[in-house]
Amino acid sequence: MLINVDKNLEKVNKFFKERDLILEIILKNYENYNFYIRINYMEKENFYKIFFIDLDTIFEDSIEKYIMSGPILNYLVNKILIISCLYTNKFKKIGNIDEANYVSLKIKNKFIKKELSLSFNKYIPKEYNFLADIFVFVFNELPKKLDIFLFELLAELTNSVKKYENNARKNFDLFNDDLKLIFDEKTRELGKIYYEKNWFKYLEKIGNNYYALIADEENYFIEVDYDKELKELKMSCSCQTNECCSHLYAVLLAIKNKKKYKKFCKVKYIDETSTLIEDILNFEFYFCIGINDKDIKIVDTYGNIMEAPLKDYNGKCNWVVLEDEEGIISKKILAIKNDMI
Ligand SMILES: [Zn+2]
Repeated sequence: MLINVDKNLEKVNKFFKERDLILEIILKNYENYNFYIRINYMEKENFYKIFFIDLDTIFEDSIEKYIMSGPILNYLVNKILIISCLYTNKFKKIGNIDEANYVSLKIKNKFIKKELSLSFNKYIPKEYNFLADIFVFVFNELPKKLDIFLFELLAELTNSVKKYENNARKNFDLFNDDLKLIFDEKTRELGKIYYEKNWFKYLEKIGNNYYALIADEENYFIEVDYDKELKELKMSCSCQTNECCSHLYAVLLAIKNKKKYKKFCKVKYIDETSTLIEDILNFEFYFCIGINDKDIKIVDTYGNIMEAPLKDYNGKCNWVVLEDEEGIISKKILAIKNDMI
């Protein structure tokens, strides 16, 4: 039976009460997938609820059983609303909207009593980077497997469109298949040098993902996502050359050979006086890969290496160390904090 997405969307619209709507995201023909995401305000219970519907699965008129839902914290919804308040004038349709890879966002903002909506194709456009936080908050509340769609939506903002387009998940048995299938000879030779000369600073496995840092004259951050069951490999490197660079080869060699390396130091930015927006920008922990008297070198969630000031404009150090095998970074941050007192 063929699924009619528009018909299914109609059913969804019929099912929900318009007055409960706070946010709605529709992904249509997005890499051949169709999703509906919604946040409602539950007036009686005085809390927010997030709904997720895979539009490709609805075969019947009654749609209840196709809906996944859960509560979403009030402060998260408020953050989304505040961001949309700040960028109200930016809400509009963006460029020519194709039917393929169509994305639309609607927000009913109770703070300014306005309905805001916009739509775009495939990637969040750079001039609308404020949308990134909204999408990240929403997707954080959805099943983890949907993260791949979030990363794709963010690709233009993270300068990874090109990488994303040729960086698709591939079938590869990391522990049995030959790396020659992926890497050419020149890349393998160079990668082997990185591996043998031990230019790894860190290599760590968290969940299905491996994270590594190779320090040449520059630092290269490598992320390898390997699904052992499905034998699916997805990888990226901050060097931006192409998906099959020598850094990736070196890391795969190290993973295959089950070598042990140092774990990353992890830091978090905590500031009691921060504004909501600052909080939003700093909600996750970072890998810390270096420190000097003024700056801390961190890797953000998208694999970008950046330097951030150790002290804020009041001269206060708000960095907190979560994990540090070597102790060098903890020591330095402690010294800075002691200096302040
Ligand atoms: Zn690389």
